[in-house]
This record gives sequence, structure tokens and C-alpha cells, in this order.
Amino acid sequence: MKAKIHLLQGDITSADVDAIVNAANNSLLGGGGVDGAIHRAAGPELLAECRQLGGCETGDAKITKGHKLKAKHVIHTVGPIYRGGRSKEPELLASCYRRCFEVAAENNLQSLAFPSISTGAYGYPISEASGIALRTSLEQLKRFPQIEKVVFVLFSQSDLDIYRKALEKL
Ligand code: ADP
Repeated sequence: MKAKIHLLQGDITSADVDAIVNAANNSLLGGGGVDGAIHRAAGPELLAECRQLGGCETGDAKITKGHKLKAKHVIHTVGPIYRGGRSKEPELLASCYRRCFEVAAENNLQSLAFPSISTGAYGYPISEASGIALRTSLEQLKRFPQIEKVVFVLFSQSDLDIYRKALEKL
């Protein structure tokens, strides 16, 4: 199952997968970072579709179409804001990844691309978040063997190096 996990440095908006995952906020009405980049690349119809969803709880995930993206779908998830690590952040972050896989499986998707959820504006230390992301993904790949490929698209080379080390440790 580990062989199904791929790590890349780049821009997730151009990923060629069934769904890219958006690190959104509770409103699902757009924001900065990867959320802003996805909305810019997908076009205004993504925001129009998101308006119909009524927001999203932290740790949950909701699906839309990909509109102008190469990916046919976007799975929007809301990571926890890091507040020191004792406010259920690890559980909530794991829940984000788990819910994305569940939503992907419900929609018969076979390939997914994730950004590093919560490690930008939401302040989650990437050394810890990377382990949670990869461990949870591996668990979910065992649960959903129909999912063939999971790509982590890391925005910087240093983030990629941290994920590589975390993957080696699994
Ligand atoms: P959060 O609020 O969940 O922390 P951010 O968007 O601020 O979300 O950051 C999450 C991660 O996404 C950060 O590592 C950031 O560098 C990265 N990121 C920003 N833009 C892109 C992009 N176009 N593709 C992939 N990753 C991106």
C-alpha cells in the first residue's frame, strides 16, 4: 500500500487526478493559500457551487466538481487551527484525511492529491502533521483498496524533504 503514496513538489492546481483536496476554511467560501489558488484556477463556478454547501465542520469533507481544473472533483476539507496540540488537533487532522478518503470512495474516485493540510496559515508543525497525513492515508488505503493512487503535492522543497523522511519512517 505504501507504493500507492507519491510525494511531489509543485502546485496542486495542475494535478492530474480524479480529485484534488482543498485545505479550506469552515465557510467554504474561499481564502488564501492553497484555497485561493484552487478557486483562481477552477474559476467562479466553484465558489457558486460551494455557496450551496452550507459550510463544513473542522475535520469533515465535502465534494464539488473541479470546473476549470484538470481534476474532475475537489474535496474540500477543513483542518484544525493549531493551538498547541492539546485541543484535539491530531484527531481532527487525521479526521480530515479519513473523511477525504471516505468521500472519494463514495464517489468511486481512484486517485487523489492532497496538499499539506493545516501547515500553512493554520500553523500545524509540519514535522508532526506529515506523520499524521501519511499514517492516516496508509490506513485508509488498506480500507479502500479501490483507491489506486494518492499524491501529496508539497509546495516547497523543504516540505517535500520533511514528508520524505516521514514516509521512510512508516
Ligand atoms: P491551512 O490554512 O490549512 O494551513 P494553507 O493554504 O495556508 O492551509 O497551507 C497549507 C499548505 O498548502 C502549505 O504548506 C502551503 O505552502 C501549501 N500551498 C499553498 N499553495 C499551494 C498550491 N498551489 N499547491 C500546493 N500546496 C500549496
